Amino acid sequence: MTSQRKSTRSAAVIGAGQTGVTAALGLLDAGFDVTLYSDRDQRALRDDVPATGTALEFGETQQAESALGLDTYTARAPRHTGLTVRIAGPEREELIAFDGHFDGYVGVAVDTRLKADERLTAFAERGGRFIVQQVTPEKLGSIAAGVDLTLVATGRGGLSELFPVDESRTPYSAPQRSLLTVTVTGLDHDDSVFAHRSRAGGARSGFSIFAEQGEGWWGPYLHKDAGPSWAFLGWARPGSDWEKRFAAADSADSALRIVRELYRDYIDWDLPEVQATQVIAEDPHSWLKGAVRPVVRAGVGHTGSGHPVASLGDTSAAYDPIAGQGAQSGLIQAQRLVAAAAVHDGPFDEEWIGRQYRSFLAARGDAANRVTRLFLGDPELAEIGNTLFAAAAVEPRFASALVGLLHRPQPFLGIDSLDAAGRFITEVTGENADALLARFEPAGRFDRSTFTSSLATA
Ligand SMILES: Cc1cc2nc3c(=O)[nH]c(=O)nc-3n(C[C@H](O)[C@H](O)[C@H](O)COP(=O)(O)OP(=O)(O)OC[C@H]3O[C@@H](n4cnc5c(N)ncnc54)[C@H](O)[C@@H]3O)c2cc1C
Repeated sequence: MTSQRKSTRSAAVIGAGQTGVTAALGLLDAGFDVTLYSDRDQRALRDDVPATGTALEFGETQQAESALGLDTYTARAPRHTGLTVRIAGPEREELIAFDGHFDGYVGVAVDTRLKADERLTAFAERGGRFIVQQVTPEKLGSIAAGVDLTLVATGRGGLSELFPVDESRTPYSAPQRSLLTVTVTGLDHDDSVFAHRSRAGGARSGFSIFAEQGEGWWGPYLHKDAGPSWAFLGWARPGSDWEKRFAAADSADSALRIVRELYRDYIDWDLPEVQATQVIAEDPHSWLKGAVRPVVRAGVGHTGSGHPVASLGDTSAAYDPIAGQGAQSGLIQAQRLVAAAAVHDGPFDEEWIGRQYRSFLAARGDAANRVTRLFLGDPELAEIGNTLFAAAAVEPRFASALVGLLHRPQPFLGIDSLDAAGRFITEVTGENADALLARFEPAGRFDRSTFTSSLATA
């Protein structure tokens, strides 16, 4: 049968963050005539703004990028081979320690500005049209009227208001944490770094959780200028001491000072590594503070004249970054949209856009949202969370399965009771969950770092 498809169909993508550029490049390679709109030019996107987030991503997301023929950065970025976790209680008692290995995949955290910049260069080289313009709702109307398919990837702000909030999928009315992030150099990724947490040392990322304060995370990172480096990401609970500290950051220097003091006062097991870090002088935007309210929006919006447009990336769903789901979801969503558009013969109407979005939510979005709630310590999931984290402390295979939810969150959709949590533990370990959990003992005292910076000893 011969296809009746028009030889060239047209698409507009609004927003040149990493998700928008990825979709634009994918559509271009799928034979679309693509115009990408951005409120900043390419140089400003790279050098005048902070990275949107740490954007740590794992195997399933890397497969989505590979399916689009794109560089996954796994050969260039320092690799994460697992996640080590330390959990302290309300009285700072040192309760849970485990080292979860990433089984069959790795993580990479790539500067979103670098990824967008390189994909934008490829987009222009392959004949894509790049227009620097702040797209208003009115302008969106005329853009959408002139093309077959319009994707809106303007992030959490931008044009997101065109897509109504899906209240049934939006769990919170306010952000659950204040965030502080800073990217640094001064630490290698060899096994002398964070060696007290894991023999894999600097190939692991390290998470520390304080029941009433928040969470701190360090992980290998690929910075656009400095290359292989490290990223800190901190979460502060509302009303906590950490929240006051994070609020005082107003530069990369002050952010790093606040982080060092935080580790001195609360997380001393990692202090020597943190003291060895240095700010990236050539990038004044290497830090960020703020908060994200997890929100899920509709997949279809309408311009003033009634044209349907599709939401994409953070415009569709904003996640608190605690489980690293935002960039991952956006890239998977982009790949799925491109793959579906490439083989679709009919109009890209409201029905088609809505169907793609529902299928993305079922395949990834809903699970990503629920895993984010688990790692946020959502009271509704607290008992399940306590059980899973305790099991991880007892059995390394389960630690690997638990951190694997960051890579593939889907198994967690079915874990809606303590019985289901027990079944998950048994499936992974082959052992009765109660018997396994009976072996749990509080950590007592975490190992402390004895790291000495090679710079300090040079
Ligand atoms: C602190 C932090 C840490 C994070 N860590 C992780 C992690 O480890 N793993 C993970 O998967 N996710 C993480 N995330 C989430 C991730 O960074 C984002 O989901 C992702 O980068 C969003 O990309 P985007 O392209 O959808 O949006 P954006 O990066 O926000 O891009 C939107 C673009 O649209 C442009 N724009 C806006 N309005 C207009 C307009 N009207 N006209 C034209 N252009 C416009 C903007 O200037 C911007 O360039 C983190 C987020 C934060 C805040």
